[in-house]
Amino acid sequence: MPWGLVGQERPLKILANMIGNGRLPHGLLLTGATGTGKYTLALSLAQALNCENPEPDRSPCRQCVSCKKIAGDVHPDVSVLNPKGKLHIIRIEDVRELRDALNFRPYEAKYKVAIIRSAERFREDAGGALLKTLEEPTPDTVLILTAISPGGVMETLVSRCVKVKVSPLSRDRIFAALSAKGLDLKLSHILAGLSGGALGLALGLDSALTLSVWDSVDRLFGIAEGPKYLKAAIEWTATFAGEVEKLEKEDETGGKSRFMALVMDSIRLWWRDVAVLAATGKNEALLGPPPSMAQKKWAKTITARTVVGLESAMAKLADGLNRSMGLTLMFENYWLDVLQYF
Ligand SMILES: [Zn+2]
Repeated sequence: MPWGLVGQERPLKILANMIGNGRLPHGLLLTGATGTGKYTLALSLAQALNCENPEPDRSPCRQCVSCKKIAGDVHPDVSVLNPKGKLHIIRIEDVRELRDALNFRPYEAKYKVAIIRSAERFREDAGGALLKTLEEPTPDTVLILTAISPGGVMETLVSRCVKVKVSPLSRDRIFAALSAKGLDLKLSHILAGLSGGALGLALGLDSALTLSVWDSVDRLFGIAEGPKYLKAAIEWTATFAGEVEKLEKEDETGGKSRFMALVMDSIRLWWRDVAVLAATGKNEALLGPPPSMAQKKWAKTITARTVVGLESAMAKLADGLNRSMGLTLMFENYWLDVLQYF
């Protein structure tokens, strides 16, 4: 994994060729979904441009002083700009500061590199200020912008950058990368299923929490009797609501919304695999772990109509939560909707 990225052979080949020919553009825009590795790639590029001992494929050695300084965020010629503040924006002051830093020739590197993350978040005047830097480049400087898609970035900036797309990986590729890291097999399956092709997203999920959410959902849907199921579902909701409340108070980094997303995505993945198992009878097309007893049982009886009904129940739940309706009420409605199909 010389570039620090799994997969992404295509963009890496393009970039390595540009570096090899000494024709890396002054402005680069790396696009791709959250967690696909845009920032990792940007850092690797900064290293590759300045590496004292690059590999034959132009990737950085990661051992030399320059590579280590960049990895440790202490290289004087490499700067990273993140959106700031509550509004999470890039302000004109930030761009001016960056421009000042880029105005000098590199201190010790071959190239000065500025990495600008979430390029969607430029305030208009800030974007205008950066435009000047893109249009009148100082020599030996490279600006690397990252964004989810070019559509979200100011058109004037996009048009002055060479665009390189970082694509999601296949589910199997993510599973292989996770299990190669020594992660438990079942957990690797669940994380791969939840990742949507973004390895960084899978790696960012809390392992123990992910397993426990998955198992709790599996246990709940595995209860065959209606009254017992409802009782367990209400208990589950109370525990869940308690956790969410705690996160809301204690975690200001968006822990609450991440936890809610994990739960919703786990429920979706669980049912998705039941439906696929029912349709194909095979494990190969599943995105999550090998089917549990509960999933196998549901797969035997589930009909296309049930699948549609469950999907609309989930959509109703997601919509209610998005509009900040009472969490307990929304979930209890959802469990009742599922009960119809017992
Ligand atoms: Zn190096």
